[in-house]
Amino acid sequence: MKAEIISIGTELLLGEITDTNSAYLAGQLPLLGLDLHFISTVGDNQQRLIDTLRHAWQRSDIIITTGGLGPTQDDVTREAIAEFLGEKITIDQDLVKKFEELFSYYKIAMPPSNIKQAAIIPSAEIIQNPRGTAPGWWIERDNRIVITMPGPPREMQLMWTKEILPRLQQKIVGAVIISKTLKLFGLTEAEVDDKASLFLSATNPTLATYAKSDGIYLRITAKANTESEAQQLIIQREADIRAILSDYIWGVNSDTLEHNVGALLVAKGLSLATMESYTGGLLANTITNIPGSSRYFKGGLIAYTDDARAAFGFDWQLISQCGLISAKAAETMATMAREKLGASIGAGLTGVMGPAEVEGKPVGTIFVGIDDGQYSQSFTKNYPGNRLQVKQRAVTSALFELRKTLLQEGNDAPDS
Ligand code: AMP
Ligand code: MG
Repeated sequence: MKAEIISIGTELLLGEITDTNSAYLAGQLPLLGLDLHFISTVGDNQQRLIDTLRHAWQRSDIIITTGGLGPTQDDVTREAIAEFLGEKITIDQDLVKKFEELFSYYKIAMPPSNIKQAAIIPSAEIIQNPRGTAPGWWIERDNRIVITMPGPPREMQLMWTKEILPRLQQKIVGAVIISKTLKLFGLTEAEVDDKASLFLSATNPTLATYAKSDGIYLRITAKANTESEAQQLIIQREADIRAILSDYIWGVNSDTLEHNVGALLVAKGLSLATMESYTGGLLANTITNIPGSSRYFKGGLIAYTDDARAAFGFDWQLISQCGLISAKAAETMATMAREKLGASIGAGLTGVMGPAEVEGKPVGTIFVGIDDGQYSQSFTKNYPGNRLQVKQRAVTSALFELRKTLLQEGNDAPDS
């Protein structure tokens, strides 16, 4: 079946907002076996939207729109669809009542313009929006399905996963499709492809690889008559893959490395401190993206210049012997962070972020040092990419090594 996405909003055409909704939906449609043939972007203009709908209607079975569902006059998706289909808009009084209750809960008067969001046409079914006031529409007519969803990505994605995806699964596929993503670090996409090649050619579950900023993702997608059968297929395939790639898998689905490292530190009753040079605090920043990270993160030192390194008491003799871009320097930084901030584990991160080589080491060279109070160890890598990409990969690398250290035996919570 052919699908088409229409993203609506003048801000998209002006380049003010990037069309992430289309990218998200484009990644979802293969789960349904739908072929995406077109993505169109159209401004907040009723006539041009009608023209775009007409094209889509001629060439696609499923048309998915996002945007243009706000209460303001420039949001015209409902009006355009109604005019295109030749249907009359009425106001759904139940929805108006719901809006009034919602606004009175927040103790604000409902602006009269909001009534527009309770509009409905005879062939449309209202789709609830748990994160906003703009409901979606599900329209079935003349062997086509038109789905309209709000523009804000948080609202659109929840409506998609909770309401639209299950309906499409039942309607089109007549089966349950479930996917699970395994997240890996430390291998290239080609290496993952190679190691998992046996399963990449299988048809159920299917396996797909994606390169992301925090590693390689492997998405397993299973199709079955019931949810439990689909889950069973996923469990089996996940076990097959873990048997080959377990050393590299650090998480699943929406996991982040910083979250998983934080959870391990909490579970083991351990604390962490960091010392960074050329990543400028990105490691500490990433760790503190997790709410409640103060339970385990003591703090981070940024020794960006020689003066700063001297102020922190860095051993000059050591630097002159090994250099700042070295295993010894990374381990020393880890130990300094641990000792100065009184943490159970210290992580040191140094490397060459660019634009030029340092101490004869090329751009992209990084060293991660970890000191858990018993041993100190270090890891080195060389990453391609620009300055920001190398910084990001250095941080991912440090978190990945921290996770490995935490999983090793002997790092259990101290008796207290
Ligand atoms: P709406 O009121 O439904 O037109 O959408 C309102 C907001 O959603 C816009 O101001 C954007 O910030 C966001 N938005 C709309 N379309 C997209 C899109 N295709 N991708 C990402 N964000 C979007
Ligand atoms: Mg809009």
